[in-house]
Amino acid sequence: MSATAARSIQEPARSIPVAAEYDVLVVGGGPSGLTAALAASEDGLRVGLVESRSFVGGNMTIGLPVLGFLGQKGNQIIDGLPEKFISRLRRERDGASEHRPCPLHMGITLVEPEAVKTTALEMLTEAGVEVLFYTFFAGVVMDGDRIGGIITESKSGRQAIVAKVVIDCTGDADVAYRAGVPTEKGNEQGGMQPPTLMFCLGGVDTDKLRMSIANAPPEARTYLTDFIPAEYFGQNHQFIVVGLRELMAKAKQERGLKIPNERTIIITGLKKGEVWINMTRVKGTDGTDARSLTKGEIEGRAQIDDIVAYLIGYVPGFEGSYFTKTAPFLGIRETRRIVGQYVMTQEDVLACRHFDDAIAVASYPIDIHRPADDGCTLIWCGDCYDIPYRSLVPQKVENLLVAGRSISATHEAMGAIRVMATCMAMGEAAGRAAKISIRGNRAPADIDIRELRRQQLEHGVYLRNPQGGRATPNDLAPAA
Ligand SMILES: Cc1cc2nc3c(=O)[nH]c(=O)nc-3n(C[C@H](O)[C@H](O)[C@H](O)COP(=O)(O)OP(=O)(O)OC[C@H]3O[C@@H](n4cnc5c(N)ncnc54)[C@H](O)[C@@H]3O)c2cc1C
Repeated sequence: MSATAARSIQEPARSIPVAAEYDVLVVGGGPSGLTAALAASEDGLRVGLVESRSFVGGNMTIGLPVLGFLGQKGNQIIDGLPEKFISRLRRERDGASEHRPCPLHMGITLVEPEAVKTTALEMLTEAGVEVLFYTFFAGVVMDGDRIGGIITESKSGRQAIVAKVVIDCTGDADVAYRAGVPTEKGNEQGGMQPPTLMFCLGGVDTDKLRMSIANAPPEARTYLTDFIPAEYFGQNHQFIVVGLRELMAKAKQERGLKIPNERTIIITGLKKGEVWINMTRVKGTDGTDARSLTKGEIEGRAQIDDIVAYLIGYVPGFEGSYFTKTAPFLGIRETRRIVGQYVMTQEDVLACRHFDDAIAVASYPIDIHRPADDGCTLIWCGDCYDIPYRSLVPQKVENLLVAGRSISATHEAMGAIRVMATCMAMGEAAGRAAKISIRGNRAPADIDIRELRRQQLEHGVYLRNPQGGRATPNDLAPAA
């Protein structure tokens, strides 16, 4: 295949079959798509979910802990459907930890990828959501300012699906982009956070690892970790290590290892001796370009051997460990963001801003794996900030909502709202907004926000009152 595609050929216009009709169609079954579909289906609407892979869960299946359930003051700030999902995962499959406080990440919730896939699918099926796997969203047919139908490609060929409201949960704003919604990518230079191919090791002595950090003498900075006091590791069996910078620098110098990361990032799994490694890093990858994605996948895989050599050769507890598997796909941190009715900014996050149309509360810091070098920028806001509904509502297209990491936010704000508990909370709001839009026969942009917020509260969603405490229905603004 040649590297450039300057040539084009004419594709003949043709009629394609309408494979299904729904009230609400969710495209993408990751953290945001899962809750969007569940919320949209809660009072009997016909809901479909199209997913290109053979499972739901998105990035919740690549060995990552769910971040964002706890706020910077230690209280739980994501509840509602995300909490129901995690509780069921924990209760029925031993597939989730408690929400554990973490000085760096506020809270971590470990999840077992296979249990995520199964529980998510069970919940969707019980809710009556029609899930269509192996089906790639490929385009839209517009009917004026509305999406008349979406086009899919699969083993069944090219087909259409018609829906009254579409919720784009692809993470890449694929639907919004194809429908003509303005989108942005990356920082001011267009640089996007680099992707990572996660991988897993077994046979790690995680107690030795954590106690070597906990017991390290203050002068032995080698074992100390970024922002997390060493004592933390003495008390916690499930943890994330972020740091060991000097140890890794030593390994690079002594062994000539090529590791494009300044920090060692190790996440304990739920199974004994299993850890996930978040250290490959493929700068310059564009997750919306198949050729670039392929290059990223190849480069990410090529980085693994040196990282494993470093871990086994230098990091306490890894001496008897072994490589077991990679994640099913390259993890994409950042691609397109829509430009919606409101663009969330760094100032909104750092000022812990309240919004009248808040549909979720978040607290995770701005966490940017810098596009151009091997480092990371972290900025905390001190408490919580609201996610406004208007950031889920795109410009130009009437019957579309967007949830997850591609909502309307700047590069910096996206660095904060992208974690999975927050994405699930946004999905829940989008699903409920779609339902209200259809029941009230109004475009998502025109729904009664108080009604959305009232329903959110009724379903156990955490929202803030003006004093910053947990809101109740009494805190809602009275009808105009
Ligand atoms: C390496 C890495 C580390 C991270 N670390 C953490 C962490 O520790 N904790 C945390 O909470 N968050 C972390 N994040 C962020 C978080 O994982 C994502 O921001 C979050 O999963 C986004 O959720 P989403 O629902 O928007 O999209 P995704 O999780 O990306 O899900 C999108 C879904 O849509 C499907 N899809 C996409 N395009 C199409 C299409 N055209 N047709 C059909 N289906 C489609 C995909 O297959 C996928 O299932 C990390 C991200 C990465 C990449």
